Order: sequence, then structure tokens, then C-alpha cells
Amino acid sequence: MKTKQTISRRAVLKSFGALGAVLVAADSTKVQAAESTTPLARKPARVGDARKIILEHVFKAPLIDTHEHLIEEKQRLDVTSSSHVPCDDWALLLSHYLNSDLLVAGMPKADMDQFLSPKVEPGAKWKLIAPYWRAVKNTGYAQAVRIACRELYAVDDVSAATVAKIQAGYEKTRRTGFYHHILHDLAGIQSCQVNCLTGVPFKESDMPTFLMQDISIVGMFAGPNIRQYAPATGIDPKTLSDWHRVIVSQALFELVDEGWLTLTDALELVDIVLHGNARQIFHLTQKTEALKTAEWVK
Ligand SMILES: [Zn+2]
Repeated sequence: MKTKQTISRRAVLKSFGALGAVLVAADSTKVQAAESTTPLARKPARVGDARKIILEHVFKAPLIDTHEHLIEEKQRLDVTSSSHVPCDDWALLLSHYLNSDLLVAGMPKADMDQFLSPKVEPGAKWKLIAPYWRAVKNTGYAQAVRIACRELYAVDDVSAATVAKIQAGYEKTRRTGFYHHILHDLAGIQSCQVNCLTGVPFKESDMPTFLMQDISIVGMFAGPNIRQYAPATGIDPKTLSDWHRVIVSQALFELVDEGWLTLTDALELVDIVLHGNARQIFHLTQKTEALKTAEWVK
């Protein structure tokens, strides 16, 4: 077990995926010694300069996180304002998607509700998952939790003996600036592509260059309000092409409205991905007329 709370970016990167584990297996003696203290450690096959060089380059590589559902940090810290944060203690680490693994392993829904309840003492939560932990602890989701506990809280595993330390680490870590610290400073992630689940097509982020927002398509394919994005565009969508027009309209509205792009430039950009349809949808020669009748321009 590590005795220091200090975490190197290299140590966190080392925890990502099988590639890291395989490469680590053949690294130098120094790395072997460090690895032997972790549950995921493997015995070295042999020492090779090529592997060592590759390892170092992998650890130095900046990462782009291409899919996230991260809510804004201020919402994350103000748990009363977000339905995406069921409780604000160590159980939250196991909430998504490890909760599915636990239910599949036989945990009753009522116990899961208690486990994720803000009204249950953090120290009383271990016994709720204890009967199922052995069944789920090696799933990908559980390994992510165990890696986080190890690298962030210096705790080797989740158990009756460690939950108090995990809770203490959680409370110490969870504070303003922790998104950037953990994701960027420790994990080397340069930016995240966020699929926002809060129901707006374009989420305004406090960290727009770090938490880059996808166009959310929730309002186009899922309930409860499948057509929530369309009315603002003046389009009554019936086909996939209609939805393409909704997306283009929404995108143009945001970009042009906020002064990031001229309408001409916006069309240049989206035309490529829409196989020329953008120009048809907002034909430049009809721009004035289209703008006059489009409700979303107001
Ligand atoms: Zn997702």
C-alpha cells in the first residue's frame, strides 16, 4: 500500500487499461517494485529497452476523453441542485454503472436505494454491498473504482476495514477545482467530450475548452419529450433528414447568434458533414428570406 497521498500523473496513467498493464509488466526494476505493491501488478517477463521507451512515451501521451456524462463541477458540488448526484459520500463512486453490476449480482433494489441514499450514514453502507462485492469486484466498473480508491485515497481495496479511509479521502478530494486536478493534472486528460444529460441541446460549461459539449440528441431520440428541440427551429420533424435540419438549425443558431461564426462560415463547416445539404437547407441566396421566417432567429 502506498503511504503517500501524492499521486504522479504517471501512476494514474499506469492504471488505464490492459495496454498499460502489459507494458508495465516488462518495465525496469524500479517500475516493477512500484507495481508489485498494487493488486493489478504482474510479474515482469523481461527487461527490454524498447518496452521501456514505449512505456515512457505512453505515459507521457496526452489523452482526449472522447465520451463523458460529467455534470458541471458546481452542480456536482451542490448536490441539492442535481438529480445526477444521489448522495455525496463514497457510495457515489459505485453508483454508475457499478450499481448495475451489483443488482445483477443479486443486490435487492431496496438495498441499492439505501446504499445511494443521502440519509444513510456513509459508515453504515458497506454492509449493504458486502454480500455482493466478491461477485462484482473484478468487473471493469469495479476495477475503475478500486483504481480510483488506490490512486486518490491510497486504499488498496474496498472492504469493511477501508471504507472509513475511503470516506475521509472522498471528503478531502471533493472540492472546488477537483475536476481539473484529477482529470488534467493527474490523468493527463487534455479535454473531455461531454454528452450532457440535463436536457438542453447545447450545455453552457464553465470550462468550455476542457468540458467540451456535444450537441445533445436526447431530445431527438428519447423521452419524455422527444420533440423538445424542434419547435424552436420552426421544423416539424418527420424524417431523419428533418432531424438533420433541426441539428443544423440549432447549431447555426448557437454559433451565429453568439458571434462565433458568420452564417456563411457556419454553412461552409456543416456542409461537409451533411453532404451538401446544409446549403440546400439554408441556401445562401435565400438566406434573408429563410432568416425572416425562422422562429429560432428571434
Ligand atoms: Zn455514455
